[in-house]
Amino acid sequence: MKGSGRWHAEQAWLGHRAENVLIEVRDGRIEAIEEGTPAPTDAIALKGWTIPGLANAHSHAFQRLLRGEIESGGGDFWEWRAQMYRFTEWDPADYFKHARLVFREMLEAGITAAGEFHYLHKHGNQLGEALIDAAREEGIRLTLIDACYLRGGLDGGPLEAEQLTFSDGDADGWARRMDQLRDTDGLRLAAAIHSVRAVDSESMRVVATYARDRRMPLHVHLAEQLAEVEECLAVEGCTPAELLDREGILGPDLTAVHAIHVSEHDIALLGENQVSVCACPTTERDLGDRVGPLIALAEAGCGLCVGSDSNAVIDVIEEARALELDQRRATGRRVLHQPEDLLRAATAGGMQSLGWDAGELRQGMLADFVTLDQPDSLWRELSPSYIVYGFSACDVVNVVVGGVTVVQK
Ligand SMILES: [Zn+2]
Repeated sequence: MKGSGRWHAEQAWLGHRAENVLIEVRDGRIEAIEEGTPAPTDAIALKGWTIPGLANAHSHAFQRLLRGEIESGGGDFWEWRAQMYRFTEWDPADYFKHARLVFREMLEAGITAAGEFHYLHKHGNQLGEALIDAAREEGIRLTLIDACYLRGGLDGGPLEAEQLTFSDGDADGWARRMDQLRDTDGLRLAAAIHSVRAVDSESMRVVATYARDRRMPLHVHLAEQLAEVEECLAVEGCTPAELLDREGILGPDLTAVHAIHVSEHDIALLGENQVSVCACPTTERDLGDRVGPLIALAEAGCGLCVGSDSNAVIDVIEEARALELDQRRATGRRVLHQPEDLLRAATAGGMQSLGWDAGELRQGMLADFVTLDQPDSLWRELSPSYIVYGFSACDVVNVVVGGVTVVQK
């Protein structure tokens, strides 16, 4: 991901709408960017809207297999989870092939960095390495968010049969396995506390310390379902966010995924600690999750990002749009978030959560950019909010990751 070259964008989002933008890239980074410049003959022309690379801050690649498979019958989140566990057994070679298809679909959707929240540890690091190899093969940035997963519930109950292979036995076992992995070009390691359900207090401190000693991003599933909050209140006498606060886990390096069932006190804690919140609206819809108070979290100080999570849908623009639109139905209000803030969640917000110096088109940043276009050029006169409200993954026509073209339609 250390390409060089010159691209000329008809229109680009530089935090404002810019025309005739020349992007000069050297060794994978933006060396210079200038608007209002005629196209040099040696520059690659980008027709349409060019925006920073999209970041998918939360994915479980294996769950892509569930798409369309669990849409008959009935049930709730927990019944979905039982079905999902049928898809957790993988041979490493098969997982490599599967992950390549998922990452290719992400690239075609304009995603230049994926965050794989990974807890399939039956073969030690082999399935994690399959993800790493697949990402390298396809040319997408990968943040491997390796999750510590140790118990079946907050009451300390044992792991269910299907969960046994997720566990490293204890947090030190998780850390020893992590020690065998290394950052490389295009790969960043990150740590995760799977959830307050799956990791006890002492172990969460081990994971957080491990991540902070190495300046790794830290992620956690938080309050997706009310049952987790109720269990936490019953066992710990506090909410999951309060428990994370009590254990010193909250901080600007933490991404809390979902954060749906959060109290006013939780919102204040997450905001004052500048925790990033990752919304996964297409999955949350699919699973019958409620709608989180994302505008309150943002106003309290949380950065926002988005993820495709179960990969029932792979379209980060749709995630950004849904972040707003789902709240409209839940609150009866419109335009809680400004379009540029939604675009930021899909780009810079996610890149920050995944530990990448990308998500903005400016000098010095990693050279990830995506071009969107539609056959009917009428949209060109519309406002930049059209990027979020008018485009979808299918409108991606060109993708550059680190100065290397990986999608060209
Ligand atoms: Zn998840």
